[in-house]
Amino acid sequence: GERPRLLVVANRLPVSAKRTGENSWSLEMSPGGLVSGLLGVAAQFDTKWVGWPGVDVYDEVEKRALSKALAEMKCIPVFLNEVFDQYYNGYCNGILWPILHHMGLPQEDDNDTNKTFQTQYDAYKRANRMFLDVIIDNYEEGDIVWCHDYHLMFLPQYLKEYNNKIKVGWFLHSPFPSSEVYKTLPSRSELLRSVLTSDLLGFHTYDFARHFVSTCTRILGVEGTQEGVVDHGRVTRVAVFPLGIDPDRFIRTCKLPEVRQQMNELKERFAGKKVILGVDRLDMIKGIPQKFLGFEKFLEENPNWRDKVVLVQIAVPTRNGVPEYRKLKNQAHGLVGRINGRFGSVTSLPIHHLDCSVDFNYLCALYAIADVMLVTSLRDGMNLVSYEFIACQEAKKGVLVLSEFAGAGQSLGAGALLVNPWDVTEVSSAIKEALNMSVEERETRHRVNFQYVKTYSAKKWGDDFMRELNETVTESEMQI
Ligand code: UDP
Repeated sequence: GERPRLLVVANRLPVSAKRTGENSWSLEMSPGGLVSGLLGVAAQFDTKWVGWPGVDVYDEVEKRALSKALAEMKCIPVFLNEVFDQYYNGYCNGILWPILHHMGLPQEDDNDTNKTFQTQYDAYKRANRMFLDVIIDNYEEGDIVWCHDYHLMFLPQYLKEYNNKIKVGWFLHSPFPSSEVYKTLPSRSELLRSVLTSDLLGFHTYDFARHFVSTCTRILGVEGTQEGVVDHGRVTRVAVFPLGIDPDRFIRTCKLPEVRQQMNELKERFAGKKVILGVDRLDMIKGIPQKFLGFEKFLEENPNWRDKVVLVQIAVPTRNGVPEYRKLKNQAHGLVGRINGRFGSVTSLPIHHLDCSVDFNYLCALYAIADVMLVTSLRDGMNLVSYEFIACQEAKKGVLVLSEFAGAGQSLGAGALLVNPWDVTEVSSAIKEALNMSVEERETRHRVNFQYVKTYSAKKWGDDFMRELNETVTESEMQI
């Protein structure tokens, strides 16, 4: 028979549109973890994507033209236009993001804060309604809807109000904090109640799922069980699905002649030195200043290493519309200047800090030649960068130094050196241990993590979530 239909709804479409002229567009696929995860699922389902296309389009003729182009890539656009800034920069990234990452609400002194908050919250609800409207236009009976992330916390409720029979899943790609942190959010109950109307809720780690369930019990007074959350006999299933990567894509790329050439050039460039690599969006949660402080301490205490090691930090620009991110950039630059000033020489600088992204092949080359990968996230949903590093290290078997506060700390802890990024001394000694580690120990640690990365792939994540969603819904249908 026909394959069941699946609508995958996320803030961003997997395709980015760029205007190339009047009524003409170039479309580019961006294959992150979410996309790789659903390529496998896509084979069993007739899958369509719903999300923001990355551009504002106001003209109706243009909207139709872009929609038509996107339809060929199974994508359906939601034109958020004037709502976008308050919804995305405002409520999503200014309010929900810090709360979910245990950073608390931003504190402003001016008395417009309440008004700003209300405007952003309204925009957030409006944006979620705009997603709903697009889904309604495209919905066919029996469609499954899989909602992604904190951008769409109202969508499950809106969907169920529209049609209670729609199968709805929701997956959170960020951490979920302790109830003591989440409680401070003014709209805490409405958001939880909406999410709970879903049939299945997925989290990266057991800790995030447990935080979510206990937050529901404490704030809403509902019951938490092994299965999930129970409210007046209705069960919302809560389960753990750790996202992974498509490991073969990285393994393949490392074997390309072009990438081997890049690797050789990098090795030559850094001859006689060990390379420590950092790859992060320039986000507060990534602990980039803490990483630099740990490295500074290492250089302070180990003068013999000063001209034998470099830290290459790719700091991918992100969310320039949010004020805190602009401050962070200055802070990072200040630290880099200080450390290079203290420990550099005429011919060498300890930190190479780049405010840019790199293309996929070059990223793989960097992962492959690095001796140590340094991840110091203060909180992080999963941190796929650590997975990608491991996938590219088959030849070198370098060491992963990984924050215990990243989701990946739960999965790659066996092979990595786990650190508390707030503890400068611990980071410094982990760097030292990693640089001095014997080949045998590196091999053993790498093998464990490589096996994990191969097994817990993005494909497995997508398959597992969809299987669970199917089973969960069947059960609730049987209850009726
Ligand atoms: N990445 C990228 N361009 C770069 C550097 C990294 O697209 O210049 C990718 C990287 O390959 C990874 C993603 O960005 O897949 C980052 O994912 P992660 O889970 O580590 O953190 P997030 O940015 O989602 O918080």
